[in-house]
Amino acid sequence: MKSTFLKSTAILLIITFSSCQNSTKNKENTENSNLEQSASDTRTEKAQERLEKVPKEMRNSDLFSTEIIKPTQLFDNVYYIGYVGVGVFLINTADGLILIDSMWNQNDAETVIVPGIKELGFDPAQVKKILITHEHSDHYGGARFFEKNYGSEVLMSKTAWEGLHSNDAEVLTDPFGNLSSELEVPKKYTEVKNGENISLGDKSITVYLTPGHAPGGLSLLFPVEEQGEKYTVALWGGTGLPKTLAANENYLSSLKMFQDAANNAEADVNLSNHPFTIGLVKDMETLRSNAPGDKNPLIKGNKNFNEYIDAKLKPKVLEKIQELKSEKEKNN
Ligand SMILES: [Zn+2]
Repeated sequence: MKSTFLKSTAILLIITFSSCQNSTKNKENTENSNLEQSASDTRTEKAQERLEKVPKEMRNSDLFSTEIIKPTQLFDNVYYIGYVGVGVFLINTADGLILIDSMWNQNDAETVIVPGIKELGFDPAQVKKILITHEHSDHYGGARFFEKNYGSEVLMSKTAWEGLHSNDAEVLTDPFGNLSSELEVPKKYTEVKNGENISLGDKSITVYLTPGHAPGGLSLLFPVEEQGEKYTVALWGGTGLPKTLAANENYLSSLKMFQDAANNAEADVNLSNHPFTIGLVKDMETLRSNAPGDKNPLIKGNKNFNEYIDAKLKPKVLEKIQELKSEKEKNN
């Protein structure tokens, strides 16, 4: 699995290298070119340095898996494109496409997302909106590619946008959390607010500000259709636990708030942009081999969603809060 980490590093190297190559084409003098080359070398080194700080057990985890999943239709208008580790959801509307997240970097956008969109029979130039769940590089890294090439509108919370641009953001000290000083970030964004509906054509997504995993985190509810029946997807925007007590307390209250909102909407489908965390890899295998009319394995019901929150997420964050509280007491 070490090769997975090396692949991630290689992707960063490739993207930095190729963006440097592109800009070199437009060079008017070699002096500028040399300056850009050394800036690019510095960025590459910094990115590599930071990734090397990722603890071994993390590098070996599924989170860093760059095994590509065959693009898969989940519902009549929703598709998954990406790796086992992280990916995007594509939503087809009457007025173009929405992407939820954008993977690690522009190279992922160009070599995984764009071909995936085409394989599913859509036109990447029709990506009108990209909704970023939070300010970690595995979610926002590819957004600039779509903004630059197709004029896609990038949406996220104000806190996420500020987190991308802050030189002292906590995530910048996290080896893989925020690589925005090495990666090209979107030039502009549209702020989304708590409870807002993001609409395109005949489809809409309700966003909730759920700080915790990342300060600018969003979680989503959206309706889907399957053989004429309507269902509601709940997507908890960030799973891993943060470091500080305050952030974990935020995580817990965000989780409770989102669970209530999802239950009010009678959410009966649980999705994650990290497929390996909820068994989505296997469910997508089933979906791809299903015959028309077969049961969709993703429709697990509202009870299942609540079990995921109550039995998987809540105990972990409660335990972490307890741990951090007793640590704090010891230090006092
Ligand atoms: Zn994250």
